[in-house]
Formats: sequence, C-alpha cells, structure tokens
Amino acid sequence: MTIAFDRLTEADLPDVFARRESEVRSYCRAWPTTFESASGSWLTDDRGVRYLDFFAGAGSLNYGHNNPAIKTALCEYLLSDGVVHGLDMATVAKAQFLEEFERLILAPRGLGYKVQFPGPTGATAVESALKLARKVTGRESIISFTNAFHGMTLGALAVTGNSMKRAGAGIPLVHATPMPYDNYFGGVTEDFHWFERVLDDSGSGLNRPAAVIVETVQGEGGVNVARSEWLQALAQLCRSREILLIVDDVQMGCGRTGQFFSFEKSGIVPDIVTLSKSISGYGLPMALTLIKPELDVWSPGEHNGTFRGYNPAFVTAAETLRTYWRDTTFAAETLAKGERVRARLEDMAAADPDVSARGRGMVQGLKFADPSRAGRVCREAFDHNLIVETSGPTDEVVKLLPPLTTSVEDLDAGLDTLATAMLRTA
Ligand code: PMP
Repeated sequence: MTIAFDRLTEADLPDVFARRESEVRSYCRAWPTTFESASGSWLTDDRGVRYLDFFAGAGSLNYGHNNPAIKTALCEYLLSDGVVHGLDMATVAKAQFLEEFERLILAPRGLGYKVQFPGPTGATAVESALKLARKVTGRESIISFTNAFHGMTLGALAVTGNSMKRAGAGIPLVHATPMPYDNYFGGVTEDFHWFERVLDDSGSGLNRPAAVIVETVQGEGGVNVARSEWLQALAQLCRSREILLIVDDVQMGCGRTGQFFSFEKSGIVPDIVTLSKSISGYGLPMALTLIKPELDVWSPGEHNGTFRGYNPAFVTAAETLRTYWRDTTFAAETLAKGERVRARLEDMAAADPDVSARGRGMVQGLKFADPSRAGRVCREAFDHNLIVETSGPTDEVVKLLPPLTTSVEDLDAGLDTLATAMLRTA
C-alpha cells in the first residue's frame, strides 16, 4: 500500500470548496484530499495517492467502484442511445430490471412484493413507505427505534434518533414515537416488553400506530445488531395488533449482511421494505419501495418524483443481479469475509479493554469507551491510506463497510492498517 507521509488538512483542498461549497459539506472534512478516480476497493486522489475504501459510499458500492461487468452494460446502453430519463414511462430498461428482480430476487425467496419507484434516494423510499402505511391504516403515528436513521426529509427525520440531525428540521417532528431497540438496556431488560406493554395499556398515552419502521442492523446508529428472536417477536407483535412492519434495508440490504435482504436470516416477511444505496450496483441513484400486493393502495401519481425512472440505474441494477445473485455463491463469500473481518476485530478488542467488536456479515465495527478515540482511529487510518468512518450517537464506533467484492488480501491489508491505528491512538 502507498503511504502518504504528509498529514493533510482542509487547507490542502482547492480553495473553491471553502469559497463556494456550503458549510454543510462533511466527508471532505474527514478525508481532506481531492479524489479523482476509483476502481474496485480503491480510490485515487489527484496526487496519485491510493486509498483503500472501507466506506464504500456509505454502503452504495457493495460491488466496488466502476465494477467492470456493470460498467460495460452501462456504457453499451449509453452508446446505443438507450432512454436515460423516463419518469415512470414504460421503458425496455425498466421492464428488464423488473423481470430480473422478479426472477433472481423475489421468486427464489417466495416474495410477492409489488415494486414502487419512489424517487432516487433512500429518504424518498422511506417517505413513500410512511405515507403508504398511513394511507392503508388510516392512522398517523409511527413507531421508530432509539438510534434509528432513516433519512433527512421531514417524515424520515421524524423517525430518526440523532438529536443533531433532528434539530436541523427547525420545526417539531411529529407523529413518531421512539421505542428501545434490541439491547438498548444492555440486555438487562427485555427491551421489547416496554413496547408491548405501552401498546396494550389504554393509559399509556401511546396512539395506535400505523407502522413500525426498523433497521435489522443500525448502520448510522452505531452498528447495533438486532437479534433474530427480537425481530421475530417484533414481527409477531405487529401482526397480532394489525400494525404494518416496515424494514428499512437501505443500508443493510443488497447483500451487506450476506443474504440479499438483511431480514432473511430471521425469517420475517415485512409488509413494506425500502431499498436504495447498492440497488443500482454502480453507485447510481436508485431506490425501491417493496409493498405486499394487498397494501398497494396508491392512486396513480399519488406519490411521484422527476427522477424516479433513471434508466441507466435500471440497466446497472439488472446487470448486478445477473452477475452476483444467480445463486448463493456471493452471499456465502460475503459471510466468509465477514467472519474473517470479525475475527480480526475480536483480536483487536481482546487486546484493548476499552474496545468491543460488533456487527453482522460485512458490516462490522469497533466501539470505543472514549468516543473521541474512534475519530482519532479514523484519522490515523486516513493518514495511512484507509478510508473508514465513525457512526453512533457520539461517533463512538468505527464502522467498516468495505465493498463486498474486496479481495481477502485487501481486507487483511486494511485490517492491518486499522490495527496500527488502534495502537497509535491507545
Ligand atoms: N435509511 C437508512 C437505513 C440509511 O442508512 C440511509 C442513509 N444513510 C437512509 C435511509 C437515507 O438514504 P439517502 O441518504 O439516500 O436519502
């Protein structure tokens, strides 16, 4: 791996960013270099320095940067003057994506979901899911969980935990009630019972909810993993009280935890599923809202968006499914790589009493008793050509999201860098 000996700061970036780009910019502050090209698990900056990417576009690049097979399909489509912008008109690219999604993802899993194209981002998928749940049930309130993250638009923000992000709304965020996520009380209390109790208590003050929205692993919330038993009990509770269950698989779907959907392991079947980030396979904007057919009560155009039919993303998504999801090989490889990463993290944690390992599949993390150390580890990693970010309410977790296609050699190299960063910050 190439080592950058100079410690870069924001002052090293071209002036135009500080002069012209809003103060809201964030990742360029954490990784203050100007990236120029990317291939597989590697990013290269304009000085020619290479960085190993254990961030993968926050989970949007599960198949790596500029994946050759997917790129070829995209280039051929563009060169043939295939439709690029299509709103929700019927196009060949959309038909082919739906056929492949049905054939390779839904049918083998016995899932009958209808597919909504809500708009290009995860937040638009979440907004559409919340709107639909309210329309179906005629109820307003939504149950969310502590440390949840669902996006930055007002509906999605109302079900998001982070207080800094919530404050950005500037208005009250309403019609959402947070409940304790699995293990919120450190395993001392069955976290789930609180929800069950207030739901059934007519004196609790809880309005009957339209839906529960949950991540099976909270990525932004600090790599918190819900147990399968907890998810099963939640699904059962929702079913028995006629509350819709929405699984937000925007970050954990598309193979991040091994199987295509993160909820497959628990055997639950959500009423509504949101997908985005890696669904296009290439980092192109695309999102899906999957809906049980009997809940598909939308009127035509009731939820829409100019960029909900971005055809290049349909082309790359279809090619991704054909390349990686024909059988279970890719999922098995992902699980094996996840175990490899986890074993190394367990070793690091065993050597350091203030650190613990957490995660599932290829989303793994290290939690630090001193939150500031997680940030220092990431900075140290960047100085040694590894891109990795923090998550959690106080940024106390170093979150590893390498592309699932990362080679074992690169995984080991990145973990070596991380281990050194741990030692240097101890
Ligand atoms: N849901 C989850 C679980 C997410 O992780 C994210 C993005 N981090 C979103 C929704 C929002 O997606 P987007 O940023 O594309 O709006």
